[in-house]
Amino acid sequence: MSVIHPISGLKNEQVKETNLSDFVKKVGRKIGLATALLGMVTLAGYAFGIEFLYRPIATEPATNPLTALVVILLGFGLEIHGRMLSNRFSFFLAIASIVICVTHLASFFYISDFSQIFMLFESVVYEDLMQGKNNSMGMNTTLMLLLLAIAHLLYIFRQANYSQLLSFTALCIPMISITGYAYGLTSFYGAMSLLSTTFGVFLCLGTLAITADNGGVRAILSPYIGGRIARIQIVLGYFVPLIIGYLVIRSLMNSDQNSVFGIYVVSICWFIALLVVVSAIVQEQVDGKRREVEKALQLSAMTDELTQLPNRRHFMEKATEALIKEKSDISELSSWVLMVDIDHFKKINDTEGHEMGDKVLVEFALIMNKFVGPGDLVCRLGGEEFAFFFSQKTAPEMSEIANNILQSVEDMTIPSYTDVYGSITTSIGCAKSEDKTDIDHVLRLADYALYASKNAGRNRVMFAA
Ligand code: GH3
Ligand code: MG
Ligand code: MG
Repeated sequence: MSVIHPISGLKNEQVKETNLSDFVKKVGRKIGLATALLGMVTLAGYAFGIEFLYRPIATEPATNPLTALVVILLGFGLEIHGRMLSNRFSFFLAIASIVICVTHLASFFYISDFSQIFMLFESVVYEDLMQGKNNSMGMNTTLMLLLLAIAHLLYIFRQANYSQLLSFTALCIPMISITGYAYGLTSFYGAMSLLSTTFGVFLCLGTLAITADNGGVRAILSPYIGGRIARIQIVLGYFVPLIIGYLVIRSLMNSDQNSVFGIYVVSICWFIALLVVVSAIVQEQVDGKRREVEKALQLSAMTDELTQLPNRRHFMEKATEALIKEKSDISELSSWVLMVDIDHFKKINDTEGHEMGDKVLVEFALIMNKFVGPGDLVCRLGGEEFAFFFSQKTAPEMSEIANNILQSVEDMTIPSYTDVYGSITTSIGCAKSEDKTDIDHVLRLADYALYASKNAGRNRVMFAA
């Protein structure tokens, strides 16, 4: 059940959603700050000659000082974007990162050598390279950081969805690298150091986290079923293929049967199909329940709560439809509207209380319902007034039905009431629709007739002139 939040006036699911996205945004900022600090530690490694800080595994590639610099810029950027959106400083950080990455990328294609301008700790890097150790800002790292810097810029310009798309794309690069490290495949992680890979994952996730109010991230964080399914799918969809892949790689190493790769592809396809089917089943169950609730709501909006008869709105809609249909019907028969009002109903409330009044109304409604044939309608207009729509009847037929209603009401027994105060009676006003398609008009005519029957002494049927 949803409860209205006392302060914000929001439903509790909405509050949950807001709290969760605020929390994730905060986490994103913290990730940014932590990454920037780690980047500074890496640079400190260069400054103080502590190799472990920029190359945690001696045999693996190092994180280049230029990479560490861009990581620091983007990490601080994350912390700042999360706090203030259009901040000149955060704009500067994103632009500086873009300039460094673009000039460095250009150097890969021998377009320019401007990236030398930004070179830090050149002598340490040079010495590493001389010793055959890997220490360079690789193309994949540069591309990843460039995508992230553009994502930051897009976020600053309030294009959160595009920002997400770019950071999600950027995430592929460290993910490939992680997979390479997990599988022990050098060709996968190439020159990307484990440290740079970690920086990349942190920055990508951090950038996605600060956009938690928007697009895909918002959908995933949703407290509703869609969000829950998406979260499960993301975890399973990443780890299951990763684990199967690991087993396959191991098998490929131990045998020269390339068919293992085929099994991998088939099992992943099978897994994706399974994931989609399971999610479709859950969605269908949830949607089925929603459709049921919607139907029940629709029905309750059309039904009178006390008597369970259709209400005025439902009656007007259905009777209008019937009248329009009838207009094209070339027939001698006609439709009729009857207004039925219990006589001196107020007296029942006054003498035996409102509860007794309600009991009479429920019993009265049951009797009214008995007179409804195919194509006919009855409703509780309000209070102790009911209305009928009878289709395709002649005047004598209508008169007979109306008098039968009067008789049935008179015969109605209400324990502890009719045995003490005698029969309950009712008055009826009848109006013929003729060629009128305006149900309001016919109802008004029936009301005049009802008024006339009350004036004439009640417990009778009167026809509109
Ligand atoms: P008349 O013969 O002229 O129709 O007199 P009446 O007393 O039946 O009509 P009047 O319009 O004076 O009173 C109708 C009463 O019906 C007044 C109101 O309190 C009562 N009433 C309306 N809705 C309900 C209800 O849902 N339950 C109960 N118990 N009483 C209701
Ligand atoms: Mg009455
Ligand atoms: Mg009345």
